[in-house]
Amino acid sequence: LQEPLRTINSYIQLLSKKYEGKLDKRADEYISFIGDASKRLKNMIDVLLDYCRIGVDEEKLEQVDCTRLFEEVITSLQSLIQESKAKIKYATLPTIEANKTQLAQVFQNLIVNAIKFHKKNIVPEITISANKNDDNEYLFTISDNGIGIDLEHKDRIFQIFQRLHTREEYEGMGIGLTTCKKIVERHNGKIWVESEPGKGSTFYFTLPMTLPITTLTIL
Ligand code: ADP
Repeated sequence: LQEPLRTINSYIQLLSKKYEGKLDKRADEYISFIGDASKRLKNMIDVLLDYCRIGVDEEKLEQVDCTRLFEEVITSLQSLIQESKAKIKYATLPTIEANKTQLAQVFQNLIVNAIKFHKKNIVPEITISANKNDDNEYLFTISDNGIGIDLEHKDRIFQIFQRLHTREEYEGMGIGLTTCKKIVERHNGKIWVESEPGKGSTFYFTLPMTLPITTLTIL
């Protein structure tokens, strides 16, 4: 995937270096469109490779204090949180057996989305908590007061590169929720959303209280 793209890129660079301003205006525009599209394609290939690599290296399970992990994620997102003035409330979260790096990615993707898809001129308010459910699992809940999601798209948003908005409206590639789904399912959990357009969204995911080491297999 990378190799033909590198060739396309180098020829586009050559084309624009040699011919920019020498053909008509439209030709310059076409060259720049191809350049932009090939940059996007490169980004898509990079995120696709990252997605495929989840769990390919050693799958390390450990006792994860989710409150501490969540605080680490929030700290790493400090500048985004300050810029957006987001208010984040969290309850004490459980300690569970999980892959710490992967779980951090789930927290991060859900928080970034909750901030990104906020309503205009409304400060994002995000709450996270976790409770035991009847199936011996922890049910994590992350709610926001953002733009919400039409439930017609509740499954589509978890599919790779599927987005409900243009890049001009909201930045992104449509990989965040797909990644969350893959990670949660590798931990024998489930992830879903409930939402009301214009009012906000609540993402739920379950994680078993203990995870037999054999349940994490390399796909
Ligand atoms: P991205 O954020 O890059 O678009 P995601 O896979 O994380 O990709 O999300 C897919 C789509 O789901 C988003 O484009 C958006 O339309 C919708 N979405 C995700 N999280 C939220 C949220 N908290 N509020 C509203 N819409 C959301």
